[in-house]
Amino acid sequence: MTAAEMTALVWTAPYEAVLAQRAMPVAGDGEAVVRVRATGVCGSDLHGFRGHSPLRVAPLVLGHEAVVEDEHGALFVVNPLVGCGRCRMCDAGQPNLCPQRGLLGLDRPGTFAEHVSVPRANLLPLPAHVPLVLGALTEALATPVAALAAAAPGPDAVVAVIGCGPIGLLACHAARRWGASLVAAYDLDERRVAHAQRLADVVGTSPAELRGALDGASDGLGADLVIDAVGIEASWNAALELVRPGGTVAEVGLGAAIGEAPVGHIVRQGIRWQGVYAYTPADFAAALELIAGVPPELGWVETARLDDGPALLAELARGAGPVKAVFEL
Ligand SMILES: [Zn+2]
Ligand SMILES: [Zn+2]
Repeated sequence: MTAAEMTALVWTAPYEAVLAQRAMPVAGDGEAVVRVRATGVCGSDLHGFRGHSPLRVAPLVLGHEAVVEDEHGALFVVNPLVGCGRCRMCDAGQPNLCPQRGLLGLDRPGTFAEHVSVPRANLLPLPAHVPLVLGALTEALATPVAALAAAAPGPDAVVAVIGCGPIGLLACHAARRWGASLVAAYDLDERRVAHAQRLADVVGTSPAELRGALDGASDGLGADLVIDAVGIEASWNAALELVRPGGTVAEVGLGAAIGEAPVGHIVRQGIRWQGVYAYTPADFAAALELIAGVPPELGWVETARLDDGPALLAELARGAGPVKAVFEL
């Protein structure tokens, strides 16, 4: 390897990635080339790895959840979402809804590499006591934080979470920190439910298993807020079963883009159906503050080396392996 090269985990074709030498990134305007220290594998990376994300074109370095180090040894969490900085949505503090938005590991090289170029404005100092792997979960936590901020349930809210993957587990943690009086979560996968046991008050493998606890905490009305971290027909309908009249369903999962949901029920029950895409810079900063203040239990996170990347991505894409994997570099 020459000085101007680095090692990267490059996605080359559906279900295939290789470790390869790549040219060192060159910083664009307002950007810094930083060294990646820890980077998490997101569900959206796996979606891309399977070849199901039309926006990700191989060959591509995936990855967008990272803690990085600059040339002075200072550590930062990366906000990987890049708005145009000129439109009304960006002006309003919502670059996550910018029509020209970009994302590391999607339309530009990502963080599964030794180095990456990132806009300086997207680097948030990592508080000194926060471990690298924990810091790398900030991005995943920012989405449920955004869901809570958008739905803004009352302080003693009854919250249900659908799906106990990384986003769902972190949604449980965020809802508790929000002050929810009850957090109930379910997933069809018993292994994931076991992890949720430590982050939620009530867990189950079906919506029906949550019903009794939700009713008991809400005079039989249902959840004030349901966070759907799955996003398929079955979970949309489960969310509508669990939410109370006038309550909010926050859709953060993108399991299916199109499907059927009973809109008449949404109308008659006055349910707010809130799409939540990623997070604003304010949500991201709030997530970092939350993770630095009260870290979630992390029994569901495993670390790996970038060398393990080709095999690990294939394993995760098959639905095997840890709930969450984070590369340490
Ligand atoms: Zn992510
Ligand atoms: Zn914009």
